[in-house]
Amino acid sequence: SPKSAVKPGAAQKRTVALTHPDRLYWPETGVTKEGLADYYAQVWRHIAPFVTGRALALLRCPNGITGEQFFQKHAWKGLNPKIDLVKDPRDKSGQPLISISDLDGMIALVQSATLEIHPWGSTIADWERPDTIIMDLDPGEGVDWPTIVDTAQEVRQRMQDAGLASFVKTSGGKGLHVVAPLKPAADWPAVKAFTKAMAEAMAADAPDRFVATIAKSRRRGKILVDYLRNQRGATAVAAYSTRAREGAPVSAPLAWDELGPDIRPNYFTVENMPTRLAALSSDPWDGFRSEAVVLPGAGRKAKNPG
Ligand code: ATP
Ligand code: MN
Ligand code: MN
Repeated sequence: SPKSAVKPGAAQKRTVALTHPDRLYWPETGVTKEGLADYYAQVWRHIAPFVTGRALALLRCPNGITGEQFFQKHAWKGLNPKIDLVKDPRDKSGQPLISISDLDGMIALVQSATLEIHPWGSTIADWERPDTIIMDLDPGEGVDWPTIVDTAQEVRQRMQDAGLASFVKTSGGKGLHVVAPLKPAADWPAVKAFTKAMAEAMAADAPDRFVATIAKSRRRGKILVDYLRNQRGATAVAAYSTRAREGAPVSAPLAWDELGPDIRPNYFTVENMPTRLAALSSDPWDGFRSEAVVLPGAGRKAKNPG
């Protein structure tokens, strides 16, 4: 197929036209609308599994990162036909959600000034059974980087103890995300309960280091283990999505052994990520989907156990 003929690092051809390709989305970094489209074309093979076939929330910034920002969950009028309208089967209002199925859809999102892509943790083929868990590690004021790294390793260990493989990415902001692939089986309440139990166990075992609830006043010097990405309709930024923040950072998948003092959450950017991927022999998250298992303890509810 044409897709598999694309060499690593080679950009796929874009077919969706861009208006105002020179519009600056990250003025200080000099990244334009066309530069963003080129970025997604170059990393398409890597980002596609995380952004296609899912409902998406979008952070749209028509005048770039310094202008007004809209966090948008629903479709709007005049949407490019390359963008799919999907219906949440549980939403009686009937307001369609946004989804894409290919690079054209991605470029149409860029044309619509989408600077961040935030997918659901389930696919539109199986809305009620998530295929992704995400533990969002949010450092409070005064938490140093090594502590954040240690926390990600601790989540990894706890996931492993529960029988789950996990992967780490920078958020492109301040923290790290530990992400575990699931075979869709357990429903949203079960997945939320699992992640809540893990976050609460961490806070109970080390109350000086972790909190599991949002109340910011209590966060100074602690890390919020934010499990609330794992509920129906919640989103988290996609692997390889850009962030509408200074320096054009991207949420960067890492190999576990890359996690350390050098790579901070904004280390990888629109400008250096394509080079990184071209230089690597494989994506650091290769095997992500193949390591998916049914949520442990959810076997009885599973339609396809194992
Ligand atoms: P950081 O590392 O800086 O925490 P992050 O992406 O993890 O970066 P959070 O604030 O921890 O940021 O996570 C917020 C998540 O909640 C986002 O990833 C997004 O999917 C979702 N979200 C919900 N509502 C909004 C909103 N109005 N604006 C931005 N994100 C929102
Ligand atoms: Mn976060
Ligand atoms: Mn958070």
